[in-house]
Amino acid sequence: MVLLSKKLLVHKLLICYQKMLESSIEFLRCIRCGSKLELDVFKFDKEIEEGILECKKCKLTFPIIEKIPILWE
Ligand SMILES: [Zn+2]
Repeated sequence: MVLLSKKLLVHKLLICYQKMLESSIEFLRCIRCGSKLELDVFKFDKEIEEGILECKKCKLTFPIIEKIPILWE
């Protein structure tokens, strides 16, 4: 029972995260200058799985790995 609910929880979290990524990609901003990021998608399977977010202004790039955008400076 405990195992089952844990699985369900993980499943729900994944769905939330995917939805957040899809809908929030246009709201993601460069962490340095706050500009909109340009998106290059390398791998797409119904959702963005791998890609690059790029700030044209300060040439920062942020990878998307397994659907998760990795933002750092
Ligand atoms: Zn920038």
